[in-house]
Amino acid sequence: MATGFHEAPMATSCPRCYASVVTGTSYVSGTLTWLACFGLCVIGCDAGCCLIPFCLDSMKDVIHVCPACGTQIGVYRRM
Ligand SMILES: [Zn+2]
Repeated sequence: MATGFHEAPMATSCPRCYASVVTGTSYVSGTLTWLACFGLCVIGCDAGCCLIPFCLDSMKDVIHVCPACGTQIGVYRRM
């Protein structure tokens, strides 16, 4: 899978359908999300507050997909 992706959609060419596209992005829980959850538990925010990172896009990894064929082109990991 390609690297060098960032959070914002970016222009690239799809490795599957070879179209020149601007990637579509979606947020998924990643390493940073889980670490933030764990960190909140450690400092005592374990009554549901530790789930806050899962609601924050800024804590999540970003997946880039081809809008034409739906192939996952790349991923931006925060850690
Ligand atoms: Zn494609």
